[in-house]
Amino acid sequence: MKKKIAIIGSGIAGLTLANFLYKNKNHDFMIYEKNDSLPLDEGYGIQLSTNSIKILNKLNFSKVDSEKIYHPKDLDIYNIQNKKLCDLNLAQFNSNNEKYTTLQRSTLIEFLKDDIYTQHIRFGKIMKEVSELKGKVLIKFDDNTNDLVDYVIGADGIFSNTRTFFEKKKNKPVFKNAIALRTILNSTSGLDIDQSKVSLMMGKNCHLVIYPINKNKDLNFVCILRHRKNNPDNIKILLDKIVKQNPNLKKVYEEDLKSWPLYATPKILPSSNSKVFYIGDAFNGFLPTLAQGAGQSIESAYELFNLIKNERGDIQKIYFLERSKRAKKVRRRSNFNFFLFHLSSKFMQIIRNFFMKFFLKRKSFVNSYLGTVYKN
Ligand SMILES: Cc1cc2nc3c(=O)[nH]c(=O)nc-3n(C[C@H](O)[C@H](O)[C@H](O)COP(=O)(O)OP(=O)(O)OC[C@H]3O[C@@H](n4cnc5c(N)ncnc54)[C@H](O)[C@@H]3O)c2cc1C
Repeated sequence: MKKKIAIIGSGIAGLTLANFLYKNKNHDFMIYEKNDSLPLDEGYGIQLSTNSIKILNKLNFSKVDSEKIYHPKDLDIYNIQNKKLCDLNLAQFNSNNEKYTTLQRSTLIEFLKDDIYTQHIRFGKIMKEVSELKGKVLIKFDDNTNDLVDYVIGADGIFSNTRTFFEKKKNKPVFKNAIALRTILNSTSGLDIDQSKVSLMMGKNCHLVIYPINKNKDLNFVCILRHRKNNPDNIKILLDKIVKQNPNLKKVYEEDLKSWPLYATPKILPSSNSKVFYIGDAFNGFLPTLAQGAGQSIESAYELFNLIKNERGDIQKIYFLERSKRAKKVRRRSNFNFFLFHLSSKFMQIIRNFFMKFFLKRKSFVNSYLGTVYKN
């Protein structure tokens, strides 16, 4: 008899896993999503490096309309005054079919929903109770429906509700004293940057990332800045901190900006139940400073799929060992970038800029710092 799987959450992680299960046809599965629909009108961008494109290609990612994606070849690095410091060739990690890709998150969700939308997602479902029954897990939802399954996959994001049901050891996400501001620009808004590249601008306690998200070169703009409150009631106060550093940025900040407090999970902990797994941000939530959150969601879903498909050995143990090793590597780099991009002392910035120029020219450094993440 086919094993039955409940996936909690229809974000990038849950949808990726569902697609592989759908393709493989050896399991019964259902995604239970708390919201009433998928966020298909969300315009913000996402960067996917080759590690995740390699996996998405197994799901026929090439069928996505090529006008809706972009392949930036370089990253240009500036200071906040828009003076170019150095650059990095992103295309060096590409192969013919696996290219560094930027797109709207909704384009990715649209692609991932295609095959499974009608039969394999139930909306408006929130877990109310769980128990073990005859070697399986019985999930009761708050609309009085239930499901008896062999595996539960927590794919419900950084504030995973699944974790709160199954884990005794708490791993509460921590506010990182930082806020992300995002918008979509349809021009460079007076900044002297190349619209076809990823641009990183580093300032005092803040950095900006701007990149094209389609062939039309609409630009995703994200600014991460340090801020002690996780509920920024007045975006203007935040903006003033940046515009003070470069008045040319005023034009960007006339756009419709939305803010997000940034959280990360402090520890990487195993599941305490052999039938329960965590993928994506529910496994570990990173800072976005290596642009790997979605990439790791895709990787974790694929790793787990392969283990469930083959059912060899202690899959819980194998999954945790492999995933935590990978997550630790990405976490170290994300945290280090966060520190590096936000230096406030002028002196430290000069030293950082010197070493950045030096190291980004060294192929061996670039390969061990980024290549081992991008070319998994
Ligand atoms: C500013 C910013 C920029 C970023 N940029 C990038 C980038 O360029 N590249 C990159 O790779 N990553 C980026 N990320 C990270 C990336 O967006 C996330 O890591 C990724 O979306 C996580 O996917 P997920 O499926 O694990 O979780 P989520 O996307 O959070 O999805 C979780 C799903 O579970 C549902 N859910 C929640 N609770 C429940 C419940 N109780 N019951 C049922 N369903 C539930 C939610 O509604 C949602 O649909 C960025 C993040 C931020 C904040």
